[in-house]
Amino acid sequence: MPDPFDHILGQPKVRAFLRGAVKAGRVGHAYLFTGMAGSNKTQAAYALAQSVVCKEHGCGDCDDCKRAMRRKHPDIHYLAPEGAGGYLIEQMREVMNDVDLAPIQSHAKVYIIDRVDLLGIQAANAFLKTLEEPPENVVMILLGRTRASVLPTIVSRCQVVPFRTIPTTEARGIVVQNTGCTPLQAAVGIQACGGSTGKAIEFVKNLERFEFRARVIEVLQLLEHADDMDILEYAQELLEKAQAPLDLVRKLQDDELAESAEFASASALRQIEQRNKRALSAKSTEMLTQLTNIVRSWLRDVLMVCSGAPHLVINEDVAAGVREAAAHVQIPHVVAALSQTDEAETAIRYNVSPETCVDVLLFEIREELYGSHSAG
Ligand SMILES: [Zn+2]
Repeated sequence: MPDPFDHILGQPKVRAFLRGAVKAGRVGHAYLFTGMAGSNKTQAAYALAQSVVCKEHGCGDCDDCKRAMRRKHPDIHYLAPEGAGGYLIEQMREVMNDVDLAPIQSHAKVYIIDRVDLLGIQAANAFLKTLEEPPENVVMILLGRTRASVLPTIVSRCQVVPFRTIPTTEARGIVVQNTGCTPLQAAVGIQACGGSTGKAIEFVKNLERFEFRARVIEVLQLLEHADDMDILEYAQELLEKAQAPLDLVRKLQDDELAESAEFASASALRQIEQRNKRALSAKSTEMLTQLTNIVRSWLRDVLMVCSGAPHLVINEDVAAGVREAAAHVQIPHVVAALSQTDEAETAIRYNVSPETCVDVLLFEIREELYGSHSAG
């Protein structure tokens, strides 16, 4: 019989471990999932959360399961750092207060707290007591990059579940297997999604995302002959295309809110609205990060060709353009463009205006790749 853990890709041991814990009725009250980006920790957290909120431990059919699978269950809370340097103390205080409230729909509540490696000492302190002794019906699932990057006071209060880094070829295989796409499409999708196979599967299924990627790469080449006004227009266009999927998210949220309005209390509705707002902002960051990921992937290919390793090019379908760009630029300038891309991504995560981030990035790339110093 299928269960929520089937959806955890590339982590057979984690799958078996969590499935076993649920079957035996010994789900703990606090977990720390550790693994690098792309190791599918979030997928696993939602699978565990689904098995917790469903009375049948993840039947897949009930309303709890369906909402959990859409990541819309009112009793599954997802948190990401909201401050420039990580989690805010207020965020953790909010969790602490929220934990004692009764669940809205299910018999239990789950908190998925992402990037706990960005939980500083003060914010962590606001939260330790809750982590140590959460109410009976609450499960905390913390996600962090490595065990060592998380505060020891947090680690010691959790059951640690290590995730393996999924090898590149295996990750591509997973995407191909789940979508029927070509290995090239899988590679492109994984790059665009920062290594996440789960997100890459969504990416390759979506023709619009591929068109977006094609346009980003086209613009990178057009920069050679672009004047300042052109760049502003390109930036605007890419920004709109990057964020186009948000319209659908907004619509689904509105529908859900209208549906909930019939039975939910005013305070529950406020919670849903707040959660929707956060989900929308997280989605926006994700989409903008796709843009920087695509830029980075292309620049990386240019660097590979510059370094005499053309066989390592990933974006094979646009290899001619990559070679063309590589022919006119020296390695230090490609490296500089890559670090500008990292800076743009950091700025996006810290909620700097996306317009500014994308404008600056395109100007910098034009300067580095096609500026007066370039080799051609
Ligand atoms: Zn169910």
